[in-house]
Amino acid sequence: MSSTIASEAPATQEAPEALALSPEELAEQLPALRPGRKMPRYRGAQIFHALHQEYAGDWEAVQTLPAEARSRLGEHFRLNWPRIAQRFASVDGTIRYLLELADGATPAGAVPAAPATVEAVYLPDEVFDRAGASVRRRTTFCISTQVGCAVNCQFCLTATLGLMRSLTAGEIVGQVLTLLREHELRPGKGLDRVNLVLMGMGEPFLNYENVVRALRLLTLQEGAGLAPRRITVSTSGIVDKIRRWGQEGVETFPRGRPRLAISLNAPTDAQRQAIMPLNRGQGGLAALLAAVRTLPQGPREYVTFEYVLLAGVNDSLDDAARLLALVAEVRCKINLIAWNMGPSLPFRTPAPEQVLAFQSRLVAGGVATYIRRPRGQDIYAACGQLFNAGTRLTPPARARGGAGPRSPTPPLR
Ligand code: SF4
Repeated sequence: MSSTIASEAPATQEAPEALALSPEELAEQLPALRPGRKMPRYRGAQIFHALHQEYAGDWEAVQTLPAEARSRLGEHFRLNWPRIAQRFASVDGTIRYLLELADGATPAGAVPAAPATVEAVYLPDEVFDRAGASVRRRTTFCISTQVGCAVNCQFCLTATLGLMRSLTAGEIVGQVLTLLREHELRPGKGLDRVNLVLMGMGEPFLNYENVVRALRLLTLQEGAGLAPRRITVSTSGIVDKIRRWGQEGVETFPRGRPRLAISLNAPTDAQRQAIMPLNRGQGGLAALLAAVRTLPQGPREYVTFEYVLLAGVNDSLDDAARLLALVAEVRCKINLIAWNMGPSLPFRTPAPEQVLAFQSRLVAGGVATYIRRPRGQDIYAACGQLFNAGTRLTPPARARGGAGPRSPTPPLR
C-alpha cells in the first residue's frame, strides 16, 4: 500500500489550484509558464492526465512536459494533495482515513493553528452469484465535502464538530484521487467498478459550486472518468439546491448527472424538526417534497430517500404508514439505516425485528425499501459516525450521557 502523495508548496495562496482545473483551464494558464514563447494547448491535457490518471504527486512527475516548464509549474499553480495522516481498519474490511488538508480549517483570512482534517471511508465489497461464487469486486469511497458540518442533525456525530469550512473543489478532487492511488485503482485497472458517495462530513449542497466542479472533473474521460451513475450525492434537504441540481444539464455534466439521495428521516414536520433543525428553515417537508418532484426522472429512475431509524423516535409502524403517505406521489425507493451508535448522543438503535417490520410495512405499501448493511461500526466509519474518532482529545460537544461505545480506535499499521 502506498503511503501519501508529496505536497508541492504553492507560489502564493492566490495561485489557481491545479486539481480544480479542467484541461482547457490548465491550457489557458500555460502562457505564463514561458512568457514570449508559445506553449501548445495540448500541454493542458498532459498536465490533467498526469494528475488525474497518473496521480502525479509533484510537478517533477509530470514527465511529458519539458524540464523548463516543469520547473515553473509550482510558481503558477498550487498542487495541494491531502496527506493521509491515519488509517483505521475495521474487521469487515472497511478503512477509515484521516486526511490532512494542505491548509487549516479556520475561516478564510485567519491563520490556521493546525492542518484541517477530514475523513473518507473505503468500503470494499464482493458480489456473489446464487451458487455463492464470487463474481466481481467493487469499491465504494465515501468522501467529505466540508470540514465538520453546520446542519446539526441530532443523531450525527459530525454535527458535534460544527462547521469549520467548506472544502475547495481541488480538495474534493484530491481526496478522491488520493484514495484511488492508495488502492491502486487506475483506468483499465478497476476504476470502472468504483462507486463514490458524498455522504461523509458536511452537507454537499452547502458547498454546491465546489462539489459540482469537482464531480464534473472526476467524471471527465480524460481524467478518472468515474461513471456518473456510480456517484451519489446525499443532501439533508437544501431545497433551492435540489431544484438547481435538477436543472443541471450537459454543459455541467457532459456524461450525465450523478444520482441524488435525500436524507428524509421523519414522516412529519414535528418529528423531522426535532432531529433535523434545518427542516423549518427549508420550508418543511412540503417544500422538500415539492422540490424533489421537480427533479427530472427517466422512465426507470427512482428518487432515493435515506431514512435513519431511531428507536422510539421515528421507527413505529404508524411512522411507516405516514411515510408511505408522504412519498405517495414520488417514484422512489427508500434506504433504511438502523442508527449507528454515537457516544453521548441520546438515541437508541432499533431492534433488528423492528427494522424488518418497518421495511415490510413500506414494501407492502408498494415502495421498494432496502436495509443498508452497517459497515465499519467498530472504527467509527459508519453512516453519521465521522468525527475524527481516535484523534480527538475531547468528547463531542453535545454530550448528554447516553451509551458510549468501545475504547478508542487503534490506527491501522
Ligand atoms: S447527517 Fe450529514 S448533513 Fe446532517 S449533520 Fe451529519 S454530516 Fe451534516
